[in-house]
Amino acid sequence: MKRSKVFLLFGLFLSLMSGFVKAQPKENQAGYYHMSIGKFEVIALSDGTVPVNAKELLNHDAKIPDLLAKQFLSETVETSINTYLIKSGTKLILVDAGAGSLFGRQHGGGLINSLRKAGFKPDEVTDILITHIHLDHTGGLSNAGEMLFPNAMLHVNQKEIDFWKVHEKESPLDTRGIKSNRSSYINFKPYLKAGKVLAFKSDTLLFPGISSHEYAGHTAGHTVYELSSEGQKLLFWGDLIHIAAVQFSGAEIPNEFDFDKLKAAGQRKRAYADAADKGYLIAADHISFPGIGYLRSDHNSYVWVPVNFSVK
Ligand SMILES: [Zn+2]
Repeated sequence: MKRSKVFLLFGLFLSLMSGFVKAQPKENQAGYYHMSIGKFEVIALSDGTVPVNAKELLNHDAKIPDLLAKQFLSETVETSINTYLIKSGTKLILVDAGAGSLFGRQHGGGLINSLRKAGFKPDEVTDILITHIHLDHTGGLSNAGEMLFPNAMLHVNQKEIDFWKVHEKESPLDTRGIKSNRSSYINFKPYLKAGKVLAFKSDTLLFPGISSHEYAGHTAGHTVYELSSEGQKLLFWGDLIHIAAVQFSGAEIPNEFDFDKLKAAGQRKRAYADAADKGYLIAADHISFPGIGYLRSDHNSYVWVPVNFSVK
């Protein structure tokens, strides 16, 4: 065998060996996704994913196993925690702040990393729109009392603050939803103390092209935010839906943490019908990342149509 061939084979052997031996350090998936809505840029930012037992979350409804199987999912659904950044001329507006450390070390808490990877710093965020005060939406606002977005003003429905002012202290009458979400108010409070919260009443124009709509049910002041520009529209749904594989076919199926289950189901139905009828984009905190897409009505249920992927 010629010497050059021997070297070639040896080189090939070495490269194969290195491929087998060196395990690549495992990094999380890219946590951001850009798109534009008229003159605004919207960037989906992943806070992470968390395994959720769909049966336990959705009240053990009999339809759950079949609906999950149709989507090739098992009972434990790896569920996205999405947040969104709206970039306008002078403002950098975050919609929700993820779970922070409140779901433990393994789940959630990736927002700041996703934000940095997308090219922004936490202190550049000017405003945060809060859909509601729950673990996976306001947990990421603070860490041990320190504001993680020190220059941001928070915008929230007054009813959310009123609710937690009443339930701030533990009571024997606390429901599971109240007990498990109290720390989300604790992580919200540093902004209240610093005078950095602007509370609004139900439906309000917050910025040119950005308004709030009250969809109470999941919580007392659960809010959907609308972004409109140059004929395009996107609605940030917050927690109108948790497990898409189940709840797009069964809007009536309640979530364990819906504060008023009947009202929450009514709001889901109203939101689905409006989105399918008008054909605007939706961004949802717990639909598979980036959680942006359209809704199409199909007989008695709805079909989620994820936004078409683009590298730009
Ligand atoms: Zn949530």
